Amino acid sequence: MELASSMQPIAEHITIITRDKRPYSAVFGEVVGRMIQQRIIGKHKNITFRSCDIVRQLNGDAENKVTEVITLKKASIPCEVVVFCIGGIPATEFLLNPYRLRSWGIDQRPTKSLPLNVTAKGFIPVNEFMQTSDPDVLAAGDIAKIPLNASVSQFAVVGHWGMAEKMGRLAAMAAMDKKESILDSVPFFWTVVAGVSIRYAICI
Ligand SMILES: Cc1cc2nc3c(=O)[nH]c(=O)nc-3n(C[C@H](O)[C@H](O)[C@H](O)COP(=O)(O)OP(=O)(O)OC[C@H]3O[C@@H](n4cnc5c(N)ncnc54)[C@H](O)[C@@H]3O)c2cc1C
Repeated sequence: MELASSMQPIAEHITIITRDKRPYSAVFGEVVGRMIQQRIIGKHKNITFRSCDIVRQLNGDAENKVTEVITLKKASIPCEVVVFCIGGIPATEFLLNPYRLRSWGIDQRPTKSLPLNVTAKGFIPVNEFMQTSDPDVLAAGDIAKIPLNASVSQFAVVGHWGMAEKMGRLAAMAAMDKKESILDSVPFFWTVVAGVSIRYAICI
């Protein structure tokens, strides 16, 4: 959405293909998502949405330059540039590999249980001081699943740089045995899309 918004002045036309019915609805809900979408469409005649659809195929010319997107709903969209926003997956699978950990000397201590706890989606659960299932191994940032009072489930993965910075600081404090808690942090975020300023402090 941010990319589409910033490309809008120079692109002839932009088509946003989304799985969701409305942009940002997964975070802000249907009402705010619709409001943002209407604002974007109303303001920028060269942006259109193809909601509840996904890219199925890319077609190109003889020089391997992309010329067309085919969607699952069989829409054909002529294009010159395609940008995929695919999200992130934590690169933590190596933590499940005791041989890799052994090469780092982590499992040389007989009292520690290995491998480290990792969720099914690859995130690393930590306590309020950023300690993993091995208290001598700390994790912070996008890969950490943190305990958070502001979260409905009391746990959250927060992919924001401000939180990553804070978690890194707390992990460093814990390493020095000067523990500070992440529990009462309130994650916040702001952005501007098509002139709409979005600022929120989240309860996830
Ligand atoms: C397109 C995009 C836009 C974003 N916009 C915003 C925004 O507007 N505001 C905001 O708050 N947040 C934003 N974020 C999220 C923000 O960038 C992240 O929350 C933040 O960078 C997380 O910091 P981190 O240190 O946990 O991870 P990263 O910044 O991802 O750093 C992890 C580092 O570890 C390295 N690494 C990975 N595996 C290994 C390994 N095995 N060995 C050694 N090194 C390894 C990686 O190469 C990388 O350099 C955005 C993210 C993206 C992708």
